[in-house]
Amino acid sequence: MSQLEPDQRDTQLVVLGAGPGGYAAAFRAADLGMKVTLVDPEANPGGVCLYRGCIPSKALLHVAALLEEARAASAYGIDFAKPRIDPAGLSAWKDGVVEQLTAGLGGLCKSRKIDYVRGRGVFYDANTIELQSQDTHWQRLRFESCIIATGSRPVLPSELASESPLVMTSTGALELNEVPPTLLVVGGGYIGLELATVYAALGSRVTVVEMTESLLPGVDRDLVRPLAKSLDRRLDEIQLDTSVSELSVKNAKVSVVLESGGSKGPQRSFDRALVAVGRRPNSSGLGLANTKVEIDGRGFIRTDVERRTAEPNVFAIGDVAGDPMLAHKATHEGLVAAEAAAGRRRGFEPAAIPAVVFTDPEIAWCGLTETEATEQAREVQVGRFPWAASGRALTLGRSDGVTKIIAETGSGRMLGAGIVGPRAGELIAEAVVAIEGGLSAEDLALSIHPHPSLSETLMEAAEGVYGLGVHVHKRRR
Ligand code: NAD
Repeated sequence: MSQLEPDQRDTQLVVLGAGPGGYAAAFRAADLGMKVTLVDPEANPGGVCLYRGCIPSKALLHVAALLEEARAASAYGIDFAKPRIDPAGLSAWKDGVVEQLTAGLGGLCKSRKIDYVRGRGVFYDANTIELQSQDTHWQRLRFESCIIATGSRPVLPSELASESPLVMTSTGALELNEVPPTLLVVGGGYIGLELATVYAALGSRVTVVEMTESLLPGVDRDLVRPLAKSLDRRLDEIQLDTSVSELSVKNAKVSVVLESGGSKGPQRSFDRALVAVGRRPNSSGLGLANTKVEIDGRGFIRTDVERRTAEPNVFAIGDVAGDPMLAHKATHEGLVAAEAAAGRRRGFEPAAIPAVVFTDPEIAWCGLTETEATEQAREVQVGRFPWAASGRALTLGRSDGVTKIIAETGSGRMLGAGIVGPRAGELIAEAVVAIEGGLSAEDLALSIHPHPSLSETLMEAAEGVYGLGVHVHKRRR
């Protein structure tokens, strides 16, 4: 490196953004012996996932599940009194979980001697970041390699935008300032349905408006059906093929006009609205024009298999580098980029990335979906096991689940799996390992699973691929 000016520092690797992608990359690079600087506006690592996403939403979903389970207990002969909900107490507990995790990450950062800078970085050139930070007296950071891990932010179309705190994105909804008597959720995707579940359990009357013809567009219909049935019971209304054509805030109410099939309905009002219509990558405002880094039409940074951009010493990972926008995908990309920056040969080439919608029931899938198999005219065999035939599911009072395995015709090689039911998000990991390991459905069917457990549903679905299955009806000819 050239001579440094007094206001400059140098580092081997700078990571911009300390979410699950960025901090994992920084930690791995430090473990490989690199001198690392991690830059993020928050006091500690964690990013959107820990501060305003996965973790606070899961804490609230846990409480929602508890409330629903207590209500459902009357079917088991147990009646609880109506719960008293203290939003401030609930919020404090959720914030405590976030604090514990982010402080823990801060400690992990320190023990690795990573230089954590609270602020933002903008590219001055392909080897220099300009820092906007109140923590440092130096403003320029010269680096050998950089990993961009700046994540994404909610999309807020102009017709849905409002200055009022009554119109929330997921960030505001997770703060849980109050439980509104009525809530409009715009968007029937991951975020809309998870937060609709939370607010409905806490007592809000929730209306979900989804633009397309079904909830969770793109997800296999047989997996969505049990969830749609459960939401029909819990929510006030689900309006499909519907969008919001006008939105304004009047007299402390959110006033909207819903539009379906080209015709506008009457004006309606809600106490709050949540807009969850997707997220967009944070690739602007980074000074990328001062480098050779390229951006595609959707704003994602273009990368190769090592997550290297068109600027060979600059990498991009996580939400800013393409779909799916999932924390665990970002983490694995981060590890690949860190190792590549440290001079190791690595590639990000997963055979299966799990996706989970943490509703009740949960929906989880990985690898090839049945919808994709049909679209691609792939020769597949599908084994399906209904949870109504699972002893463990019935002891939990939950017969609404389904587990399915998608295998290559002939070889039986595992290509994909889908699960709907409580704990689907935990169960799907077995299918990920099977697909990554090149196992066949028969390997899964022959592996002894503990009884009674929900994991048996994977084994039984795998048997189904071969037309077998102990707990399904077979007509003998
Ligand atoms: P999403 O893409 O999952 O869902 C957005 C939904 O809004 C879609 O169904 C879309 O058809 C609908 N929509 C779009 N415009 C609309 C409009 N004007 N009116 C009504 N409906 C409209 O997006 P999201 O729920 O905002 O989540 C963003 C991303 O965050 C996801 O893609 C996901 O990767 C990630 N995420 C993941 C999890 C998880 O892993 N459990 C949870 C939350 C978010």
